[in-house]
Formats: sequence, structure tokens, C-alpha cells
Amino acid sequence: MGRIFFRGANLIDGAHAPKANATVVVEGERITAVGTNGNMPKPTVHDTVYDLGGKSLMPGMVMCHYHVAYDNVARMEDIDMRHPPTFLTLIAAKNAELLLRSGYTGAVGAGTMHNIDVTLKRAIDAGMIQGPRFLPCGRDLVTTGDSVDCHPQFWNLQMPGLARICDGPDDFRKAVREEIKNGVEIIKLYPTGGHGLFWPADVMTMSQAEIDAAAEAAHERGKKIRGHIISKKGILASLKAGVDVIDHGDMMDEECIDIMAKQGTFVTPSLYFPWMMVEEKRRTGKSGFGGVEEMEKGLEHSAHVIPLAQKAGVKFVVGDDFGIASLPHGAYAKELQAYVKGAGISALDVITWATKNGAELLGMGDELGTIEPGKIADLLVVDGNPAKNITVLEDRDNLDVVMKGGQFVTCQLTPAKVRLQRAA
Ligand SMILES: [Zn+2]
Repeated sequence: MGRIFFRGANLIDGAHAPKANATVVVEGERITAVGTNGNMPKPTVHDTVYDLGGKSLMPGMVMCHYHVAYDNVARMEDIDMRHPPTFLTLIAAKNAELLLRSGYTGAVGAGTMHNIDVTLKRAIDAGMIQGPRFLPCGRDLVTTGDSVDCHPQFWNLQMPGLARICDGPDDFRKAVREEIKNGVEIIKLYPTGGHGLFWPADVMTMSQAEIDAAAEAAHERGKKIRGHIISKKGILASLKAGVDVIDHGDMMDEECIDIMAKQGTFVTPSLYFPWMMVEEKRRTGKSGFGGVEEMEKGLEHSAHVIPLAQKAGVKFVVGDDFGIASLPHGAYAKELQAYVKGAGISALDVITWATKNGAELLGMGDELGTIEPGKIADLLVVDGNPAKNITVLEDRDNLDVVMKGGQFVTCQLTPAKVRLQRAA
């Protein structure tokens, strides 16, 4: 089988400053050559060549906080009570394909119903449906009366789909082991309230002993663990337990940053929703959302603390609660501008969060996330320069190529005519 040549690319490799007029060669599943000099291999008549004329070539992105089976939900009950599991699985399969076509070749689950993440991963890996490489999450593991344990007692639901109620370290340990038995590779906890949930941020909805037991049980079997964690107290408790991903992390400060940087903890700041709400209020003078003043304060804190954490080497990744009514599926890359415009992070750094850091969380940092010889060819060709203007990634029409594992998911380019190279 012939090789694929991308020539004349603005190369954004996920780790370094962009390089103009670069060539990248893909052979089978992998990238075999990357360069800007004359030593690159020359295409033969068996190869396919695409001249990009300065369009950008970058690694596929990784959505690191993903609820593939949230069907644009408006209320808590919509999450687990609107659709039967079979129908919801089909909706989720459509969302997974949409995510891939939006330029995300990887996804890390952040909580799902009926083990849908695991089912999708299996179907994607078997080639039955199209979707990203998936690190599947399972049910929310929560304590009795936690924000996610929201259905009235008299409904007698037991919440078999969305959540599993655990009280005490032994319960959490057992639940983590069951999730792993079911194929889950990243566990989701709710150590604090806040960030839109019923309990406020300063309420700890798990004890230190419960967080410790859950994290230990996950790590013993080589799996990862993440948590909805807002307050400083919650962040410090979770870092002490060695939680791998801090979701939201609104109230982190320099003490937290120090530990996160040392432990290599990943953080999904999920700034898009508050940033969008505050922007709307600044633009129109009003907001359709009640808590916008509080969001404005939170955003000011984030704008101060995220650049500090970035400088300290904290590994940020991208991802947000897409799949709720105010953040519908498909608008995924709109999140990225929030870090540029709302927190002053450079577009190039945000691209590194979305590519290199995401691949590391996926557990595939050696295989994915940057454009280097030997790595798997998960690539995007972007009509525009996202390192200068991150918003070009928002429009799927600007994605001329989405490639996963050397295979085109979409390709809107026409191959160049190649002059025949004769053997010498
Ligand atoms: Zn979430």
C-alpha cells in the first residue's frame, strides 16, 4: 500500500512552535517521516500526495471530560430517565462519531450510564462504528444524599444506571472493583459539591477515608480515578489520595498548584460555560442565568490562577460538560477560546493541552499527541492557523482532514499530480 504525503504544511506538532512548509509522511497506521529539509523521502507513483499550501497540520485532539451519553439534558432526571438504555446507546454512538468528526480522535469519559462508554469503546475498536479512542468511565460513585443522588427516596429507583451509592471506604472499594470488572478504566467520584450541583462547593460529599480507599482500589488494578472537585479543601484531600484528574478545580491556589505539578495531576478547568455566560452579560448587559455574578468572580480567580499553574507545569487538559442543554454536543471546540480569551493562555499552549497532554491522560503519550516519526497518525488538516486563531477549530468545515490511525475519517482535499520518480 502506498504512503500518504502531506506537503507545504504549517506544522503544529503539539510540542513546539509551528514550522512552515513542512512535509509529513504516513505509512499504514503510523507517521514515518517529518521534516522541512531536502532529506525527506520523495513520493513515487504508488503514493498519494496532498499539497496543503500553508494549511495547518496538527495532532488529533483528545476530549478529556466527556459525557458521550448525555443527550443535551436540561434537568438531572433527563440524564438517566428519558431514554431506555438501548436507545440511549444509539444516541451515544452518534455523539461519538460527531466528536471524531469535530477533530477529537481521543476521549476520556467523565461519567456515563449503563456502561455505555465501555460498550462504545468495544464497538469502535472492533470497527463497527466510528468514534474516538476511548478511555471509558462508568457510573458516578457517590455517597447517600450527594448532589448526584437526586431522585426522591420514595421512587425506589436505586439509580442502577447513572450512579452507585456508596457509604464508607469498604463500599467505595467494592464499587471501584465492580466498575473495573465491567471494563471501566477511569473511575468518577464526587468529593465536593459546587459548579452547578445542589450542594455548595465547600461541602465535602465524601470523607478523606472514602477518597483514599477509592483511589487505592483503582490504582491497585492499574486504573485511573477522577473527581468533581471544586473547593481547596476537596482538592487537597483528593491530591493526598493521589487522584489522577481534578475536574473543574475552581478554587485551586498556589498550595494546590505546587502539589499538582509535583504529582503530575491532570486538571480539566472547564471554563467554557462560565466564560460564555459572563461574556454574554458583558455584551448585552443582561444574562439568562441566575448565578452570573458568582461566575464572574470565579472567572477572575481562574484568570489569575490558571496562568500560574501553567507556568508551574501543571498538566491541563480540555473537556467540559457537553451534552447538557446549554452546551450541546457538536460545539466541542468552542471551549478552547475560553482559555485564550478568559485566562490569557496562548493558543499554542491550549493546543498542547488538547493534544500532547490529552494523549498522556489517555495513557498513550508514547504513541499519540505529537507529530513525530513512529507515532500513530491521528492528524487534522485545518484550513487556517489555530496557533494564531484558535476559533478556526470550531467550524467542522475548516477540518479538511480528520485522520485516525492513518485512515481518513474525512478528507476534503484533492491529491496532487505527482511526477513519476524513475529508479536511478
Ligand atoms: Zn461532567
